[in-house]
Amino acid sequence: MDCLFCKIIAGEIPSAKVFENEWVYAFRDIAPQAPVHVLVIPKNHIASADGINPENSALVAKIFEAIPAIVKAEGLTNGYRVITNCGEDGCQSVKHLHFHVLGGKKLSENMA
Ligand code: AMP
Repeated sequence: MDCLFCKIIAGEIPSAKVFENEWVYAFRDIAPQAPVHVLVIPKNHIASADGINPENSALVAKIFEAIPAIVKAEGLTNGYRVITNCGEDGCQSVKHLHFHVLGGKKLSENMA
């Protein structure tokens, strides 16, 4: 499958890894929009939030179990934001489910 993030998980494309376990991989966004900008992804390919179903939703739980450990390691003691973009109107550019974890400063109150 020609998927950028699958290639990152496979080590075919380099990334700045911050966390990995059996189900989840997390790495620094190449174009950070905050002092801390980490992408958290399932190792199994899911195209977007639209592709979450009863068979794979446990992976989403694994992602949200990993996030507290990731933000603790990143020193985000004062809060952070988790975002997933989905589809055309959501401006999703990489078609592998990913959660942006943003922090390290007071973030904008706007989300859209
Ligand atoms: P989205 O627009 O929500 O699909 O987010 C995709 C994100 O992937 C963007 O924030 C990009 O900066 C980021 N990105 C694209 N290519 C890479 C890469 N090779 N390594 C790390 N982050 C990347």
